[in-house]
Amino acid sequence: MIRYNVDESQQAMRDRVAEFAKKHIEPVSKELDHRDDPDRFAMDLYKKLGKAGFIGMRMPKEYGGGGVSALDHTTMIEEFCFYDPAICLLSAVAELATYPIYAFGSDEQKKKFVPKCASGEWIPAFVLTEPEAGSDAVNQKTTAVLDGDEFVINGEKIFIMHGDVADVFVLFLKYGGDQDEGKASRKISAILVETKQDGKYIPGLKTATLKKKMGMRAATTGRIWFDNVRVPKENLLGGVGKGFKIAMNTLDGARVGVAAQGLGIAMRALHESIEYAKKRICFGQPIGKFQAIQWMIADMSTQLEAARMLTYKAAMLEDKGEKFSLEASHAKLYCSEIAKFCVDRAMQIHAGYGYIGEFSMIEKLYRDQRIMEIYEGTSEVQRLVIASALLR
Ligand SMILES: Cc1cc2nc3c(=O)[nH]c(=O)nc-3n(C[C@H](O)[C@H](O)[C@H](O)COP(=O)(O)OP(=O)(O)OC[C@H]3O[C@@H](n4cnc5c(N)ncnc54)[C@H](O)[C@@H]3O)c2cc1C
Repeated sequence: MIRYNVDESQQAMRDRVAEFAKKHIEPVSKELDHRDDPDRFAMDLYKKLGKAGFIGMRMPKEYGGGGVSALDHTTMIEEFCFYDPAICLLSAVAELATYPIYAFGSDEQKKKFVPKCASGEWIPAFVLTEPEAGSDAVNQKTTAVLDGDEFVINGEKIFIMHGDVADVFVLFLKYGGDQDEGKASRKISAILVETKQDGKYIPGLKTATLKKKMGMRAATTGRIWFDNVRVPKENLLGGVGKGFKIAMNTLDGARVGVAAQGLGIAMRALHESIEYAKKRICFGQPIGKFQAIQWMIADMSTQLEAARMLTYKAAMLEDKGEKFSLEASHAKLYCSEIAKFCVDRAMQIHAGYGYIGEFSMIEKLYRDQRIMEIYEGTSEVQRLVIASALLR
């Protein structure tokens, strides 16, 4: 009742995720929520996700991926987030960082990196944000200088999912080659950085795990420093000055993914609320008999359904090969906000038993959902994208 499928392959995906989640996620979900330590990145689970085909799902089969449609991938994320949003993120981050290599890489780059990232053998990271360049991503301070056959990289990055454990970075930085004139966005390039040699970081590279993260704790978030890091010049991705275009194109698809995360969270909040409203007795009757509770459930359900339609529309446009930036922003913005609304209502329905984590999943959902309005472009940035598309 709280799920909807456009076609049968969506149900097949839901069944696949449910089977995996019951076996591998539910037993460890609580424990992983309290991890805050780089050595404890959920590697075991990451490898299991890879083995079961849940990493690199969107990548074509010839590159070791699952070759699924955007709609089925959306369903996968939605269903994973029903079970545990943080564990879903392990897979979502791999997709975010592998996609630009597949979409913009040379044949050699694709052959070298994509199968390893899509199988879960290597952990990739999408490295864009800097201490002074978040929403204002063009304001990159990290630089590359060409020295013979190598780029020499200096700078700092922050808030990078898996940045503390990744084997390969899709790194965005300021490098415009000879293009000294013109738009700042044309001076941003993307470079692939293999972070390790013989199991150790390459010279000049340092990372740290960010501590005390509010939610999404099974997936780690890192800070990265580059001090004269040298990378072969063949690792330039997509050409000089193409970095901003690569980042924005990647974020379109990723925003549909974040929308799906919001759907899964809202779906779980609604599910828990319905179950709880049927069994919690107050004043001699289940609280679901009170109109105040019924209205909260009705509002949650209505918003979830509307959010799902926005998300599926964006995914279906992507599958048809049509432009979907505007629809991705609609979906990301709305799903982030309704996830917050639904979890908040679920907390109200569960009251004390929602606030204390040992009694229900609501406390964890409350923490996990909050990042939806921040990463892959804040809600304010989504409104900017939407308005500027309409007013253009
Ligand atoms: C857990 C986590 C994981 C992340 N993962 C990654 C990752 O894997 N890779 C990566 O590159 N980045 C990642 N990020 C970074 C994330 O994308 C940024 O935090 C986000 O883009 C916002 O940037 P900021 O935090 O610097 O906020 P700022 O850009 O400083 O924004 C501060 C506030 O000002 C508002 N604002 C800014 N500009 C405008 C404007 N023009 N109009 C209106 N309001 C505006 C913002 O909406 C926000 O409310 C992650 C962040 C977190 C917390």
